[in-house]
Amino acid sequence: MSMSGKTPTANFIRHIIDKYLDSGKHGDRITTRFPPEPNGYLHIGHAKSICLNFGIAEDYSNASCNLRFDDTNPSKENVDFVDAIMEDVRWLGYQWNEPARYTSNYFEQLYEFAVHLIKQNKAYICSLSAEQMRLNRGTLTEAGTNSPGRNRTVEENLALFSAMRNGKFKDGEHVLRAKIDMASPNINLRDPVLYRIMHHQHHQTKDTWCIYPMYDYSHPLADALEEITHSLCTLEFEDHRPLYDWVIDNVGITHHPRQIEFARLALEHTVMSKRKLNELVTQQYVNGWDDPRMPTIAGLRRRGYTPESIRDFCDRIGITKVDTVIEMGVLENCIREDLDSNAPRAMCVLKPLRVLLENYPTDKVEQLNASRHPKNAAMGTRKLPFSRELFIDQDDFREQASKKYKRLVTGGEVRLRNAYVIKCEQVIKDENGNIIELRCRYDENTLGKNPEGRKVKGVIHWVSANHSVKAQVKLYDRLFLDTDPNIINQKGKLKDQLNPSSLQVLENCYVEPSVANAKQGDRFQFEREGYFCIDKDSSPDALIINRTVTLRDTWAKIEQKPIS
Ligand code: ATP
Ligand code: MG
Repeated sequence: MSMSGKTPTANFIRHIIDKYLDSGKHGDRITTRFPPEPNGYLHIGHAKSICLNFGIAEDYSNASCNLRFDDTNPSKENVDFVDAIMEDVRWLGYQWNEPARYTSNYFEQLYEFAVHLIKQNKAYICSLSAEQMRLNRGTLTEAGTNSPGRNRTVEENLALFSAMRNGKFKDGEHVLRAKIDMASPNINLRDPVLYRIMHHQHHQTKDTWCIYPMYDYSHPLADALEEITHSLCTLEFEDHRPLYDWVIDNVGITHHPRQIEFARLALEHTVMSKRKLNELVTQQYVNGWDDPRMPTIAGLRRRGYTPESIRDFCDRIGITKVDTVIEMGVLENCIREDLDSNAPRAMCVLKPLRVLLENYPTDKVEQLNASRHPKNAAMGTRKLPFSRELFIDQDDFREQASKKYKRLVTGGEVRLRNAYVIKCEQVIKDENGNIIELRCRYDENTLGKNPEGRKVKGVIHWVSANHSVKAQVKLYDRLFLDTDPNIINQKGKLKDQLNPSSLQVLENCYVEPSVANAKQGDRFQFEREGYFCIDKDSSPDALIINRTVTLRDTWAKIEQKPIS
């Protein structure tokens, strides 16, 4: 049973696993793995892979999932990324088979397998430059050219490979290549590189190694050594599968995992490649990997997303072999629905406008009752202090407006949510003509009921000026204006694609007292304004609050409009 208590959605990979089990030929154990490279934070695309792999481990009876750091490029990796990845997987609610694995755990074995390949005359040392190697690779229509290294003897190759390991050469001087077929129609089989020289300290193995295996070599072997049954990866690896199988078959391991490919997740208005996310961070276009505008798990968490909403999202988009780009609204609807059911209600005035109730006693304070959730009585009630001086939102008042405007106008009435009906008597302005205060009267017979003989349709939110707490509120919008910043970015710069108003900081917001002691990560629906989350930098003296999502999907409307 999944965390949400829902039955997992079937998909073609689960069908393959069902058949594998039903055949009775393989026993009943299922092992999957999630193999991130610790060269960045996990993003929502990784969440799709996590939910698939760990979801299978959760739902099948004798199943588990390994977390394996694919740490074969020390120049881009570090332990901070390792730690962040572990935190994110745990936060999503998953447990890996302890301990976490590292491809670097297998470096010695991988080296021995490479020696085995050399001895079988299935691998050789190539001394071409990267550029020469690229030119010799051929094209989709032309065969490649054999490297001179192909003619080296086994003894020569063994000696060179050992010297490579022992640090006798500089970066790029030699590589170890598989001897497969330079004329193969599959370019991945044209003598792919298995090892390269890289004099770089490794976050796990320190200075032990100066040669590092390539992904296409280390990945199938790590899968095989861990006795993974189903190795699930994204579609771009489909053409690598013959190589995946070649490597396992030729090093002489008996366990052979099955690689199955599925479509990667792409989301509108965002980038998902770690290289680009890294650029956003290092160029400081955003404030770190966990900036709430980032599509990273850490960013979404800070923004106010729940693990349940992300798992629900992954469930809704499903697993197929067809690449699609998902609308941001699909992700947003998942958190909206979750918070609609689970977030307590509160009131927050984002752009305060002072209201003075002329007929309300100066020293009087009432503690009005309000529910924390309209549909969930179990969440209890809260107290709303009501007094002579209030704040309402500037957007909820117009000096004059058409009948369609259901909020407060000069001389008009409006209901204050959970409180009384008020009437605006007078507008006070400063010398520049800016409105600074509204003088109003309240009707004391209207608490929880309509005034006699007339209906007041508009309802607005408010807080008591002297009992509310000041907060900084951050409103977020799409990080990129274009639906697909990836395409345009191939020519232009990432920077030119950024939405200049993706972050709006409001310094003078006021929240009702029930929010004052909220802890980092607590979530609320601020009535009429959206869903919000207390930021991790927030403190009781200086509240910082992120808007997770608006109450309704405002972009859907914008995007339906024809471009003028
Ligand atoms: P990037 O290209 O962004 O660096 P990656 O695939 O190199 O991503 P890894 O850390 O190697 O990143 O990914 C770990 C696992 O997550 C892989 O199995 C990969 O297939 C999967 N994954 C990465 N991005 C996506 C995505 N957008 N949708 C689904 N799965 C993904
Ligand atoms: Mg990768």
